[in-house]
Amino acid sequence: MDRVLELKDFNVTYKNKTKKVYAVKDINLTINKGDSLGIVGESGSGKSTLAMAILRLLPERNTEITGSSNFANKDLVQASEKELKEIRWKELSVVFQKSMNALSPVHRIGEQIEDIYRVHKPNARKEEIFDRIKALLRLVNLSERVFKMYPHELSGGMLQRVAIAISLIHDPKLLIMDEATTALDVVTQGQILEEIVKMEQTLDVTRIMITHDISVVATTCNKIAVLYAGELMEVGYVKDILKEPKHPYTKGLLSSIPSLSGEKETLTGIKGHLPDLSQKYEGCIFAPRCEHAMEQCGKSKPSETQLTGENRVWCHLYSQSDRGEQLDISKNL
Ligand code: ATP
Ligand code: SF4
Ligand code: MG
Repeated sequence: MDRVLELKDFNVTYKNKTKKVYAVKDINLTINKGDSLGIVGESGSGKSTLAMAILRLLPERNTEITGSSNFANKDLVQASEKELKEIRWKELSVVFQKSMNALSPVHRIGEQIEDIYRVHKPNARKEEIFDRIKALLRLVNLSERVFKMYPHELSGGMLQRVAIAISLIHDPKLLIMDEATTALDVVTQGQILEEIVKMEQTLDVTRIMITHDISVVATTCNKIAVLYAGELMEVGYVKDILKEPKHPYTKGLLSSIPSLSGEKETLTGIKGHLPDLSQKYEGCIFAPRCEHAMEQCGKSKPSETQLTGENRVWCHLYSQSDRGEQLDISKNL
């Protein structure tokens, strides 16, 4: 299977004057061609930090990134600013929650998209650019008229569609969407998500979808990575994890949202809050909030346990026994 992005021992630390914040820790994650990977976790779990660090958009003076991030035969952690400029937007693209705010209020949408197109194709002919933009606008279900409009003439949903169209302008291999539809009303969000899924059937793009909303992952992703306090808890296929989550944190996350099947159920949520990320912890980072914590959990960090297929979990409950069996307690929960 073609690997698009491979993170190895990937760490991101914010270094402020008085303290360090260990925001992303020891991430090992592979994203294959055609995958749509949802990264979920409660607020402050490091989702945006991870995305920004992959893109190398964090200020170097107060962040430290270690490990490797292999993309298009390059380690992005080591890449020069010149190399990154070549890759960003062209091969690796991003849409943020507020991407639309980056548009200039005094220039027509078309002119702005044209300028972005010319960054990587300075000699492109007007007709080539216009054809490309027209196709992209159609893809995100916007009419050509948008080309001549100013940002203030468009609704939030339309602007976010423009941002998505811009992110696709050079056919990126990997698209990262960080809460790209979160600020929109439910109907618009639903429409855009539907378009994203449809669009991927025609484009050769791999997607990382960062969201705190598991229902977005359920409807638009094939894989999911659960992040807690900067660490991976569980990774695997959406169809398996949403049906039968293994990690106590994933179970808690799923119990804090209304049933995805629409059935009524009591929302239990997860008691407690994220740990102080300026501290280093010896055992499992989730132990203070975990109902299943054992003595071992406070002493050593759980290592990765490979479950079926590509599914993996980091929890002592699933550590391999001498006979290689998994101690799956999920049926008792
Ligand atoms: P949300 O769902 O609210 O967007 P998130 O999962 O994207 O949250 P991040 O924004 O990546 O989380 O933050 C991860 C951790 O890093 C948090 O504890 C946050 O306070 C901390 N953090 C973020 N930016 C900085 C910074 N510039 N300096 C120090 N700490 C930071
Ligand atoms: Fe809970 Fe222990 Fe598993 Fe951590 S390792 S999630 S504390 S059971
Ligand atoms: Mg965020």
